[in-house]
Amino acid sequence: ERDRPLLEARGVVYRYGAISALRGVDLHVDRGEAVCVIGPNGAGKTTLARVAGGLYRPAEGALLVDGEPLSRRPHEAVARGVGSVLEGRHLFVEQTVRTNLELGCYHGKVPKAVVAERLEKVMELFPVLRKRAGQQTSTMSGGEQQMVAVGRALMAEPEVLILDEPSMGLSPKITGEVFDALAALRAGGLSILLIEQNAPLAFELADRGYLLRQGSVVVEGSIEELTGDDVVRSAYLGA
Ligand code: ATP
Repeated sequence: ERDRPLLEARGVVYRYGAISALRGVDLHVDRGEAVCVIGPNGAGKTTLARVAGGLYRPAEGALLVDGEPLSRRPHEAVARGVGSVLEGRHLFVEQTVRTNLELGCYHGKVPKAVVAERLEKVMELFPVLRKRAGQQTSTMSGGEQQMVAVGRALMAEPEVLILDEPSMGLSPKITGEVFDALAALRAGGLSILLIEQNAPLAFELADRGYLLRQGSVVVEGSIEELTGDDVVRSAYLGA
């Protein structure tokens, strides 16, 4: 089915005990689209990234991949083409860069030759990772580690890539490199759900976006619509 969203959150509610982090979120990513979610601290962005990536199950509502809900099986999201780059990266920092990248294929029983091909593609995208392939990941800079995290997610060949605050803690220069790579991936047909506090940066990559506040979507639209919205302009674009 080409006309249903690749990824869709429908009325998603998520609670941490008594705290409602998501209060009925509707959002979707179509094939080939780059969609951003902006919002202040505590809005629920990280929670949304984790629900969208299949790591958290909604208390109410559903997360649909290609129109079908995710089951409870671990790693199902990855197997169904949903890749995530989480906040904090969760790399095995004692291991080499190459090992971390290869671990991205771990759940798929991927033949060695295919792993090698995918590794080659990731290293074309991030040439620094080729130079550092044998290096212990903990010795890499924050930006390089972010590239490893993106690369590892790509090793499973996702159809949609979810990124939670990929610019966090990175210099503008490295952030630019990471976002150039994301733009190239997008141009190659990858769908993207970008969770990002830095609205101007997010708007450069995305076609469409959502403003999340206190667990609810309060504004949504094309980037043109968002940049024209008074709430978005005053709070996120320094207007
Ligand atoms: P930030 O940009 O500060 O990370 P965020 O938009 O990503 O914020 P979340 O981290 O999703 O927001 O948090 C949403 C709400 O849920 C906040 O009120 C937060 O305090 C709460 N929350 C998040 N994680 C937990 C947790 N493990 N236990 C209890 N409450 C939590």
